[in-house]
Amino acid sequence: MRVKRILGLIILLLVVLLFGMVLKTIFHPFAESTTSETTGLDIPELTSDQIQRFSRGIQIATVSDSEYSKTNFLPFKKYIQFLKQNYPLIFQKMNFYTINDYGLILHWKGRDSNLKPLLFLSHYDVVAPGDPDGWKAPAFSGKIKDGKIYGRGTLDMKNMLHGLLEASTNLLEKEFQPERDVYFAFGQDEEVGGLDGALIIAEHFKSEGISFDSVFDEGGIVVEAGSIKGVDADIALIGVAEKGFLSARITVKGLGGHSSMPPLESAMGKAARIMLNLEKNQFPSRIIPSIENFLNQIGGSMGFSTRFAIANLWIMKPILLNQLSKNPATNAITRTTTALTMMKGSDGTNVLSPEVEFVANFRLLPGETIDDVKKHIDKAAEGYDIEIEEVSNTRNPSKVSSTDTHGYKILKNTVRKIYPKAIISPYITIGGTDAFKYEIVSENIYRFNPILLNSNEQRSIHNQNEYISLENYKRTIFFFETMLKNYDETLTGNTK
Ligand SMILES: [Zn+2]
Repeated sequence: MRVKRILGLIILLLVVLLFGMVLKTIFHPFAESTTSETTGLDIPELTSDQIQRFSRGIQIATVSDSEYSKTNFLPFKKYIQFLKQNYPLIFQKMNFYTINDYGLILHWKGRDSNLKPLLFLSHYDVVAPGDPDGWKAPAFSGKIKDGKIYGRGTLDMKNMLHGLLEASTNLLEKEFQPERDVYFAFGQDEEVGGLDGALIIAEHFKSEGISFDSVFDEGGIVVEAGSIKGVDADIALIGVAEKGFLSARITVKGLGGHSSMPPLESAMGKAARIMLNLEKNQFPSRIIPSIENFLNQIGGSMGFSTRFAIANLWIMKPILLNQLSKNPATNAITRTTTALTMMKGSDGTNVLSPEVEFVANFRLLPGETIDDVKKHIDKAAEGYDIEIEEVSNTRNPSKVSSTDTHGYKILKNTVRKIYPKAIISPYITIGGTDAFKYEIVSENIYRFNPILLNSNEQRSIHNQNEYISLENYKRTIFFFETMLKNYDETLTGNTK
């Protein structure tokens, strides 16, 4: 009898709990899925001059070399000359100077120099085009065809650089002057680490005592509906932080010699075991606050079971994290990832190498540090004789910028004008940008390139057949014109 009563009580409690969780799901403050009927503002059509100028900028092959001194700077000089000749009003009205010869700074004086200035970033170096066969038009042709401009750098990221200059030219022609000072900083080596560009530029600003109200760079885009499974809406991803980076070269020692008399355990066998340990024992997955915010933004458009999990994170978190881990895209925003990328043994089929080395690339989620990763490697290699060497570009994760700032709200409002139906959400930038180097001069750093890309276009970045649609280029110019014009206007409408 008693057992029955207790069992009954437990079932009753479970039913109440479940009911509570369902209620919590229904009333959870998910961002409303945008059903707005507005079609957005009329974005001015591109002029043929604007298209030509961009195409010609793409034709200059500003490829940076991982060994900075080996970079062919001739195209960089040519590109600077090209900008001066083609955007004369800018160079007439703004103060132009260079840092370390090729870092380009433009300073636009505002009406009120007591206000903290704004900083817009871009880089004008590009990665090499790779196999020419994969391109529908040559990588440095700037060919205009079928509503697209082809070429290396069209998305990453000369579109933003030219977009800024076109937008400012439009405003200068109307005698516009910004309320606060505006700076543009264009780096020459972002693709190879930014140590001779952005790093020095940021230090320059710091030494001048300049700090910025907001900094805007690349590092987020609008992904087309369907890019995230289960979300049938375009999503504007605004990078409020970026992951850290460590490429660790791990050398494992063993016994060398001839393969006819092998030791019981070779260096390569040991390396394989360590690699397996690293892949099997991943860093734990976590939901950091900006990603919880992201889940709340996209959750409203997802199915009941996902909404149920997000709304009841206190109990459902392990299940949700397990789901998120299964997809490489969501896995990457919920943990420090481990990627085994290179391996080297002996050069002979019958030669045992006394040393085997491999490279593991880690992308660190905010909250973990390079030291944590090194301890993690040591643990995976416990009992083995190894050496760890950092390959280049090691960096801790960036700070996380707040979404509760004027800069973020203005950015969000501007995105809303261009993409009235998109979900707009903070995000963690997975790849690296120059942006984090500016942490020494601003708390508020936002990474967003205002273009809508389908999955093919997303894949073309650093790959073959990069192009920008004229529609996206048009949006880029409009985006910057609106940002520059409205930054100090009072916010109206939905800024949630
Ligand atoms: Zn880039």
